[in-house]
Amino acid sequence: LIQVRDLVKEFEGQKVLSNINLDLHEGEVKVLMGASGSGKSTLLRCLNRLVEPTSGSILFRGKEVLGPNVDVRELRQQIGFVFQQFALYSHLSVLDNVTLGLRKLKGMSEASAKEKALHELSHFDMAPHQDKYPAQLSGGQKQRVAISRALAMDPAVLVMDEPTSALDPVMSRDVADLINRLHGEGITMICVTHDLNLASNIAEKVMFLDKGVIRADDRIDVLSQHADPVIQKFFGEGQV
Ligand code: ATP
Ligand code: MG
Repeated sequence: LIQVRDLVKEFEGQKVLSNINLDLHEGEVKVLMGASGSGKSTLLRCLNRLVEPTSGSILFRGKEVLGPNVDVRELRQQIGFVFQQFALYSHLSVLDNVTLGLRKLKGMSEASAKEKALHELSHFDMAPHQDKYPAQLSGGQKQRVAISRALAMDPAVLVMDEPTSALDPVMSRDVADLINRLHGEGITMICVTHDLNLASNIAEKVMFLDKGVIRADDRIDVLSQHADPVIQKFFGEGQV
């Protein structure tokens, strides 16, 4: 579904991503781990051009994403994003957070946007909270709204940047269950996390990024026994 080839990103002459290659297949869940500053968020952001790569290629369904004539709005509908801090609009109700993109990006009428949003929210037991504002929700509930909002756009891929970093262990477990449910429904996902439990619950293999270089792409039990001292250091501490 997505093929990243020789992707390089420099910020002010400093290489943050070096020759990244990555394949994301239809229906697959990929987990990306690595130390803070290793380039994980930057890599995710390149996928839907929130960050412009310095060089390389990203194919989505075989078509180049980085060309000058690409419709970035369309691309961002196809590649849905769930940000670390949920990024809900605090001045909008739960319902309006979900309908906004449907109306503005998809051009749906208010009535059909509402119907679609409620359908999505009810999937995650959030329909009863539709009139609340983000400040009135728990972290786990906010995360479910953020995921509902992304999925309402019917993306081909769901990209998640540390979806449990603001959550307690019980809520993190909920998100893991949620991701597994979506995986069962055939949704393609790529997820950055520092949470080894989450990683081992949702994916068979984990990609390990170190200073912008992919050091390994393997099962967690293999990574935890890895000879590479950089990898060993992280997995030895039980948290990366
Ligand atoms: P974390 O686990 O802390 O979220 P990360 O792996 O997601 O880290 P990135 O946010 O991708 O790391 O950042 C990688 C590197 O790129 C860091 O050194 C960061 O300072 C740098 N960087 C990120 N965005 C910018 C920017 N807009 N301008 C300059 N440097 C940036
Ligand atoms: Mg990050």
